[in-house]
Amino acid sequence: TGDDIKTSAKALAAVLAGMKAGVAFTGAGISTECGIPDFRSPGGLWSRNRPIDYQTFRASPQMRAEAWRRRFALEPALGGAKPGRGHRALAALLAQRRLQAIITQNIDGLHQASGVEEEQLVELHGNSTYASCLDCGQRYELDWVRARFEEGQGRAPDCASCTGPVKSATISFGQPMPAAAMARAGALSGACDVFLVLGSSLVVWPAAGFPLQAKRAGATLVIVNREPTELDDLADLVIHADIGDVFEAALAG
Ligand code: NAD
Ligand code: ZN
Repeated sequence: TGDDIKTSAKALAAVLAGMKAGVAFTGAGISTECGIPDFRSPGGLWSRNRPIDYQTFRASPQMRAEAWRRRFALEPALGGAKPGRGHRALAALLAQRRLQAIITQNIDGLHQASGVEEEQLVELHGNSTYASCLDCGQRYELDWVRARFEEGQGRAPDCASCTGPVKSATISFGQPMPAAAMARAGALSGACDVFLVLGSSLVVWPAAGFPLQAKRAGATLVIVNREPTELDDLADLVIHADIGDVFEAALAG
């Protein structure tokens, strides 16, 4: 209700006012108001399709084609999305230097679209707005992949330089986590005064280890999520509400 939002926003504003070196950790919930469904809410992406894991993608040309079909089917939602109120609030806190960085599990590129610089952003699960070769790392734009896909009548394209499989630049289940991003996220989590979780169910590991690490290192842990999360019991402030509503109200003062 409106009163609950006001009370929550006040508590959040108090934490933000004292924050000097915060870190935000974002999940799919920050992008749902932008028209991109999350995974685990009813109607979310997983209720429709079982994810294709890394080994399957590598091994099977059919599943590679299926993965690209699904990716192109998401393009109307992903390609047209604009940053939401949560993205804009975090960009403002970064500009004020109260926040040092954002660690994200998202692959939608919306933090960049809100003006966040690469050195302020850690992408744990990669980025779906471009592709790369799994063998040589060569980068490809989606338009290139789509053109090859259509020329080949639905066959997934291979790398033009080494013939390796070309995959969306996201991290799939079974794929190693990006080492540099993991190291940066660990360093940030261990050295922040406030750790803000926004829109993550905190069930995917190792990503969910970062809030835990921050809390153990003495940070104030804040969780803003519509539903309860795995780490609510540990948090200093838990707000079960819409991210956009709460941040809008908190930053309005
Ligand atoms: P999740 O789907 O497991 O959890 C999202 C959480 O956000 C849910 O608990 C839900 O209650 C909450 N939520 C949804 N809308 C909200 C709102 N407006 N305000 C407050 N809370 C809201 O997502 P996850 O924890 O990020 O993990 C899923 C994995 O899926 C991640 O690894 C990510 O890479 C990937 N993913 C990314 C996107 C994206 O890039 N936008 C979308 C779907 C999935
Ligand atoms: Zn290659």
